[in-house]
Amino acid sequence: MLISSGRRALMLPSQTPSSSLAPFRTSWIGGLRETMMRDDATGKRLATQVHGAAALALALAIFALDVLSPLQGAVAVLYTIVVVMAARSHDRALMMVVGIAVFAMAITGYFISHSGEPLGSPAARLGVSLTAIGITTLLSLRNQAAAERHRLSEERYRTIFNAAGLPIWEGDWSTAHALLQSGQPASPETIEHIARTATIRAANNEAARLFGLPDASALVGGTIVAHHTPAAEATLGRILTALARGDTTIEEETQFLTASGEIADVVLRVTLPPGSDGWKRVLVMALDLTERNRAQARLAQSQAELTHVSRVTTLGQLAASIAHEVNQPLSAIITYAKSGTRWLAREAPDALEVADCLDQIAANGTRAAAVIARIRDLARKADPQRDLVELGSLIDETVALLRRALQTHEVAIRVTIADALPLVHGDRVQLQQVLMNLMLNAEQAMAESPADARELCIDADTDGEGVRLRVSDCGSGIAGDPESLFAPFFTTKSAGLGMGLSICRSIIEQHGGTLGAANNPGRGATFGFYLPAVGEKEAA
Ligand code: ADP
Repeated sequence: MLISSGRRALMLPSQTPSSSLAPFRTSWIGGLRETMMRDDATGKRLATQVHGAAALALALAIFALDVLSPLQGAVAVLYTIVVVMAARSHDRALMMVVGIAVFAMAITGYFISHSGEPLGSPAARLGVSLTAIGITTLLSLRNQAAAERHRLSEERYRTIFNAAGLPIWEGDWSTAHALLQSGQPASPETIEHIARTATIRAANNEAARLFGLPDASALVGGTIVAHHTPAAEATLGRILTALARGDTTIEEETQFLTASGEIADVVLRVTLPPGSDGWKRVLVMALDLTERNRAQARLAQSQAELTHVSRVTTLGQLAASIAHEVNQPLSAIITYAKSGTRWLAREAPDALEVADCLDQIAANGTRAAAVIARIRDLARKADPQRDLVELGSLIDETVALLRRALQTHEVAIRVTIADALPLVHGDRVQLQQVLMNLMLNAEQAMAESPADARELCIDADTDGEGVRLRVSDCGSGIAGDPESLFAPFFTTKSAGLGMGLSICRSIIEQHGGTLGAANNPGRGATFGFYLPAVGEKEAA
């Protein structure tokens, strides 16, 4: 079993061998590698020897033909075949030796056959042969050097490919090229066909891991169509369109299906390397974002929970104020019910007065129900909404909720809302949470101020582009850098948590706005946020 899975163990370094077999496996793999390297070297030596022997035999045959036959042709030119044969060994030294040897043999043959003769056509034939031998040797050496450079560059490419640490595969997209060049539109059917024919020529183990496959061999020769999601199909369509337009590097975010059925979020970088005519070699690199996206989702979830907890905590602080807000219409209902009863108890019951009492009871009942509905909204844990929010009414409601708390602490409140305040986009409950927080902080900051100086001002106005809301107090003011107050868990209160302002800022930023703070020229501080206004067209 170990031996049959030996190849997998070689390609998957992350697989942990069982401890008892580990030493054996390590030595077995090491042994296998050594044997393979030894075999490789032996094979090369053998090929050199065979090519050398064959070249020698041929050289001797040509020498014999040159010296012994009465032929008058340039027999020595045949030595070029010997040089070409030696070149097949890819051994530079052997090629040089053979080149020099046949050069010498051609000269020797000439002197044996024509020594003492005056220089004539045999000498000219020798010159031609020697030139041919020299040129063939030089060309073979150059060719061999170029082949060696190419081999080294391929080796470097493979090394980078395998050691990159991120999923990379090389695809043959020639069918796609042919189809799109023939003018076929990139329709869903064409894209599906292309996906089925885009075979993978090479892949690294990281790519296999991305798709949940054991190793790269599971990808090479096949396609990744089984891992396509609808998003991946759409991405492929966009990539093909970009390639057809002439782009050579394209980046796209997409999703793949792993072998275990999970979704992998990736950023793909598709490159056409130079010389990949007809899209025969398309390089695809993937950056796996699945873990990062999951972590972001978890963070967003925790933030939403924290925001909710903070809101409920604030509501807890406002329990007395809320009770008062609900109590007011209830008291009115009781009063109107009593006077209605009195109107009915008269000798001549006044139906009109009774009807008026009933109207008032209904109106106050509706008011109480509205207050309870708003509190329920604030307490509810719901996903953020994106509605059109009218900040004027939101300010009025929040002031009503806090009125009792402010009265108890002898804080006067002044609200100034500009006319025709534009709407903003957002989650009403979350924006109300921000305002409640700023108002409660302002009220608490004035705890040490003289009672007649406790004034909380809310101003809302617009610059046309956005809405500005400011909450000012006449309290202690901010000691030090106002930015430090927005850091999570910063608090100067004995029972404070220090999360209120940090949550407020993240809410406002999620709404595309900004939240800041500054000391007032006189006493106290002003906290304010700015939110982009909804365009008139959209608001209509
Ligand atoms: P907490 O209210 O639990 O302390 P916050 O994040 O709401 O948490 O406030 C952080 C700190 O910012 C407060 O402890 C206080 O020191 C300071 N702060 C907030 N609002 C004001 C204000 N209106 N005036 C002065 N300091 C303030």
